[in-house]
Amino acid sequence: MQKKVNVFKFGGASLKDASAIRHVGEILQPFAGDSLVIVVSAMGKTTNALEEVAHAYWHGKPDEARQKLHDIHQSTTAIIQELFAEVPEELTASINDLFVSVEWALDETPNEEYDFDYDQIVSLGELISSHIVAAHLNAVGLPTSWLDARDVIQTDNTYREGWVKWPETEERADRLVPPLLKETNFVLTQGFIGNTSENYTTTLGREGSDYSAAIFSYCLNAEAMSIWKDVPGVLTADPRIFENVSKIDRLSYREAIEMTYYGAKVIHPKTIKPLQNKSIPLYVRSFIEPELEGTFVTDDAGDAYPPMVAVEPDQALINISTRDFSFVAEHHIKELFEHITTTRLQVNMMQNTAISFNVVVNDIDDRVERFCTLIDENFKTTVDRNLELITIRHYTPDVVESLRRGKVNLLEGRLPLTLQMVVKDVPVMRRKES
Ligand code: ASP
Ligand code: MG
Repeated sequence: MQKKVNVFKFGGASLKDASAIRHVGEILQPFAGDSLVIVVSAMGKTTNALEEVAHAYWHGKPDEARQKLHDIHQSTTAIIQELFAEVPEELTASINDLFVSVEWALDETPNEEYDFDYDQIVSLGELISSHIVAAHLNAVGLPTSWLDARDVIQTDNTYREGWVKWPETEERADRLVPPLLKETNFVLTQGFIGNTSENYTTTLGREGSDYSAAIFSYCLNAEAMSIWKDVPGVLTADPRIFENVSKIDRLSYREAIEMTYYGAKVIHPKTIKPLQNKSIPLYVRSFIEPELEGTFVTDDAGDAYPPMVAVEPDQALINISTRDFSFVAEHHIKELFEHITTTRLQVNMMQNTAISFNVVVNDIDDRVERFCTLIDENFKTTVDRNLELITIRHYTPDVVESLRRGKVNLLEGRLPLTLQMVVKDVPVMRRKES
């Protein structure tokens, strides 16, 4: 009988330099006899650096773009030299080919669609890291096959947020992965990237490698998926913002999806659905202390939860009102949502009054401006920006009170299990200089 597959995902922080990559090899040693699909992100902050390349290129600064790409190439080479006593020739060749292909792309005139160019450039990060990590595992006696995730994950052509074509992806995973797992116990592939039917690269959204791992888990009917993080598991709040956070040992898929959707950064929100749909358990574990248990995400077992807090920054509150004082009726809401869909606004909260409709959205690029322009003929809008959305699951009065302190609350919504508020800092009053 074929062995069950496990899927592991390692993020950028766990691959940030040569010693981090060596550490990943050590974490994997005890699993040498298991069938593993390993999904990796770009190393460290490479994706941010590549975003700068794409940005410079598209804004007519090809020299700056080339220079930034050159810097990434140099730091990549430095990591490779530190990692290998003798750098495998095929590795050098693959890495050079990858950089050359982007260099050539930078010589062309930019495409009409920024998001298209972005994906062709930014996807480089995962391609590089996957080649390096696979070569390292092979060098330390963990035979590993390299797989191009784009041969498996098929998407539509929504660049920067590719929508997965599930039947095609499942068919390819089923056809391509098991033969590789027969050759080597480990198959290593990229997170974050997919492929359109015209053979162009797409990305699945920032931090999307978790989602890629869930896609592989779903398609391969994995036994379990593990995400290796720089935190001990899922915490009750972000430790960079809050004190006194504690680790949650068990979490239901529902709790996980509710918290990640509203900004709990520990897992990409799209990760949960494919896992839940096939009852595949998820472990969120620490790569710093791999012997610890982490958090186990699974079906609801009637657990009781402590208050859990997620904070999503960069929110815009759009107040929309009719120009002719008519009620905001169903046909208006329909029209508004058509434009919300075309501008790809993510609505996090909404509330209406007789003649106004208020939505809280993620303030990304120029989407809010485009939306306001589209509805300008029939609606007046005012926009409040730089807001925070605070979501508290299993809220208690004292937690709500402590989070309100020092904040102006612009909008609040309460359900039995969830309280949300959109806030900004209380402006500090200063006496005018006389
Ligand atoms: N490298 C991509 C990013 O930084 C994907 C990921 O890390 O999950 O967004
Ligand atoms: Mg990442």
